[in-house]
Amino acid sequence: MKYIAGVDIGNSTTEVCIGHINDKGMLKFLSSASVDTTGTKGTTANVAGIKNALNIAMNKINKTSNDLSVIRINEAAPVIGDTAMETITETIITESTMIGHNPDTPAGAGIGKGYIYPIDDIEKLSNNKQYICLIPKHINYEEAANKLNILMKKYEITAIVIQSDEAVLTYNRLDKKVPIVDEVKYIDKIPIGMKAVVEVAPQGHTINKLSNPYGIASIFNLNADETKYVVPIAKSFVGSRSAIFIRTPKGSVKEQAIKAGELTIYGEKLIEKVQIDLGAKEVMKACNNVSPIIDVEGESGTNIGKMIDEIKKNMHKLTGNSNNVKIRDILAVDTMIPVDVKGALAGEVSMENAVGIAAMVKTEHLPMENIANMLQKDTGVYVKIAGVEAVMASLGALTTPGTKLPIAILDLGGGSTDAAILDESGTVKSVHLAGAGQLITMLINTELGLRDFTLAENIKRHPLAKVESLFHIRMENKEINFYGEPLSPKLFGKVVVLTDKAMIPINNNLTMEKIIEVRKSIKQKVFVDNAIRALTQIAPNGQLRNIPNIVLVGGSALDFEIPDMILHELSKHKIVSGRGNIRNCEGPRNAVATGLLMSYKG
Ligand code: ADP
Ligand code: MG
Repeated sequence: MKYIAGVDIGNSTTEVCIGHINDKGMLKFLSSASVDTTGTKGTTANVAGIKNALNIAMNKINKTSNDLSVIRINEAAPVIGDTAMETITETIITESTMIGHNPDTPAGAGIGKGYIYPIDDIEKLSNNKQYICLIPKHINYEEAANKLNILMKKYEITAIVIQSDEAVLTYNRLDKKVPIVDEVKYIDKIPIGMKAVVEVAPQGHTINKLSNPYGIASIFNLNADETKYVVPIAKSFVGSRSAIFIRTPKGSVKEQAIKAGELTIYGEKLIEKVQIDLGAKEVMKACNNVSPIIDVEGESGTNIGKMIDEIKKNMHKLTGNSNNVKIRDILAVDTMIPVDVKGALAGEVSMENAVGIAAMVKTEHLPMENIANMLQKDTGVYVKIAGVEAVMASLGALTTPGTKLPIAILDLGGGSTDAAILDESGTVKSVHLAGAGQLITMLINTELGLRDFTLAENIKRHPLAKVESLFHIRMENKEINFYGEPLSPKLFGKVVVLTDKAMIPINNNLTMEKIIEVRKSIKQKVFVDNAIRALTQIAPNGQLRNIPNIVLVGGSALDFEIPDMILHELSKHKIVSGRGNIRNCEGPRNAVATGLLMSYKG
């Protein structure tokens, strides 16, 4: 009787499976473990993670690594994925003339027009004009309200802009109510004496005058040419609770298209060139036309050139490959990036069109022998490199109840989406495509403007809820959950991510619906499109309908909605797909490691 281990080293995760073989040669599965991969896949830095995973799994059966007779590591697919993104248009707003933002608590509602002045200047002015009043931080709400109440008897003040977070406190003390915007950080940068408009939306609404170019045109009597110039401003106001628009005489705004650049895709037989600003669809069409791809280049001096260079440089570093790094597949996705507005007064951003790209590099051959040698030296256990990743994954997937040969798998990982078909004769056809879990996290992070990868990863993995009172939340599926103990007041009114352990507040002003929409559409763009792309390439005669049933494996198959989206799409082609359940106990995890043990027995 002996103990054996199977080890799968992935871009993100290292998984092991432990079994024993009895004297009759029968295999029994005993335990498993998974840890984050240490270092770049295919390098000796992986050994630390492997040893750790082996210890965890052996510990579960009260044994140690010394009890192992053999460790089988797979001939890992030599693919490494990376992602990058760039804007393809840019709005430049000079002479900063706008503030559109979402303070938590503006006060009042409506529109106020007038010349904008600090509160202390107004009494020196004539009273035949309308004014908008600025209140700097050093004046507190009581003092401000007293002064305003006196001024408003003589002057027509139509709106108030406050630097601190005291809109509501001030509003409550006013005799005459006007719209108030607060939390305007750089109030001192506002050009004094200019004509301005303040808009505050009623509760539960977003502004609708300043976010409409014709709305701005009617307020300022703009002609058609001038109206064209305010379009980017209106655009960046869309969705705001409040906005301030100041017309400076020299102020100008222009939307400048940066040279997004051209992508050259080299196929084995064809070469295609495609302008990146035509969008992801055209880029992917070009990729399909030239497939199989042997390399991709971006026009130098343009955004796409910069992106491709960055990816190649990164891959070069990772692989330590002295040859030139060649990109073997890309996935392009249309997206939006919030870009800081130049000269912004309250941290405003404008949403710009962008393209996200995941690229995949095939290295010659991963030096698995180095890993095997080091692992063998460190553990004293015989280490064998055995089996091709796609075959092992298919074998492992076959332990899912309800499956049989021929079987197709979709391995939804971090850096790549892999697909394989294994038939009764044991032949395997497989592909590796760029774009997987990491790309989704990156797109969620940028499209929602989070600047926080951990939060983006959590938004990807867990459903949302809105904390409606200190004792109840409404989940995204509309269910309501009640609590006996009050929730933290910090969560009140917030959209939160419901992880198994905690509620994590999302501290920007996006609605729950918006976040859900972005999350779902990104998952759709990456995995559903990639599933079709991958399966079309391995399907017998290129026909999807010739594909037997499909088992989803890999970390991203754990996702709470991706398997449903893929099932929905594939069912249009009369294909059944579903999340794997390796050995009827691992869910979609551990397929390769399990296959490594099965192939030993077989
Ligand atoms: P690899 O085989 O390349 O090491 P994995 O199969 O471990 O990759 O998949 C890693 C990916 O799976 C990561 O992008 C990670 O975000 C994603 N992932 C892991 N758990 C979950 C989950 N519960 N829901 C959604 N995605 C997940
Ligand atoms: Mg994997």
